[in-house]
Amino acid sequence: MNIESFTPPRRTLMGPGPSDISPAVLQAQSRPIVGHLDPLFIKMMDEIKLLLQYAFQTENPHTFAVSAPGSAGMETCFVNLVEPGDKVVVCINGVFGQRMLENVERCGGEAVVVEDEWGQAVSVDKVAAALEQHSDAKFVAFVHAETSTGVASDAQALCALAKRHGCLTIVDSVTSLGGIPLKVDEWGIDAIYSGSQKCLSCVPGISPVSFSPAAVEKLKARKSKVQSWFLDQTLVMGYWSGEQKRSYHHTAPVTALYALHESLLQLYKEGLENAWARHAAMHQELKAGLDKLGLTLTVDEAIRLPQLNLIAIPEGLDDAAVRKQLLEDYNLEIGAGLGKFAGKAWRIGLMGYAARKENIALCLAALAKVIQQ
Ligand code: PLP
Repeated sequence: MNIESFTPPRRTLMGPGPSDISPAVLQAQSRPIVGHLDPLFIKMMDEIKLLLQYAFQTENPHTFAVSAPGSAGMETCFVNLVEPGDKVVVCINGVFGQRMLENVERCGGEAVVVEDEWGQAVSVDKVAAALEQHSDAKFVAFVHAETSTGVASDAQALCALAKRHGCLTIVDSVTSLGGIPLKVDEWGIDAIYSGSQKCLSCVPGISPVSFSPAAVEKLKARKSKVQSWFLDQTLVMGYWSGEQKRSYHHTAPVTALYALHESLLQLYKEGLENAWARHAAMHQELKAGLDKLGLTLTVDEAIRLPQLNLIAIPEGLDDAAVRKQLLEDYNLEIGAGLGKFAGKAWRIGLMGYAARKENIALCLAALAKVIQQ
């Protein structure tokens, strides 16, 4: 074997995630390791909880980070809350709504699917109709920011609707947290998960999660054991919570949590509103440059995500060849389209640390060179 140390190139990440990471967050991850039950580490975990409560805008005591990626956060919400036979209204308008449906089915839940076109938001009217028809539904599950299409759904309206029908809500905020307004307590969200690698600009592999008191009550009232040992929140609570004596549950990803602490601290110092405004402003700057290049955004302005831009590929351009050249000549990663947008659109992410003027200037200049040659 002739294997050398892996030394990756310095890429600029403007795809659907992972996003660019600030030098401060990368440095945090290389600090000395301590034991995961070291009192200083536990103090840092408590600070992560406080910072996550700020990021989610919640006072939920059960707010913590799953030691695994966003999909595990998703699974945490479903396996803990949905019991066999529970009816769940699942909204699908892209890849990740579909993944929610997989979760419901694997939990033995009864899914009521509300489908919208890829590129459209979840229709509040359709969900209302589904809830009228299924008065025994217990949950409404939807994706706030659909990364596969760059579409934002009206989380506030959907949660208010679910509440009126006595349903708990399960919300995917993997791409929305830190990038667009999201207010867990004010909007009445019951179970929410996110990812570290998008607008938080942290290393991938961690999933912030928060459960409302009503969600914790539903969990505690379960008739059957949670089928996943690792994700069972009745066990994890003892590890992340100060109420019980901190006890070993699993070995935390110590250095990844240093990075999460640092990235959340940066978000706190910037201020959530300022971070939301920065993403909106950088989206406008990108759009102005794309206009000049004759490139158009596919998603309607009212439901566009500033942090994930779906761009129509002009006729005659080879999708994969353009992305390959951007990567090889400019060390710039942009994303491919998915589903009905495969080969027809690119996805340009402006997430967290990547939502900066330097990135936009590089992206526009590189795109101009590559598509106009
Ligand atoms: N939900 C959304 C909206 C996502 O964009 C992603 C990942 O891109 C996930 C869930 C899954 O997250 P992960 O890839 O970290 O497991």
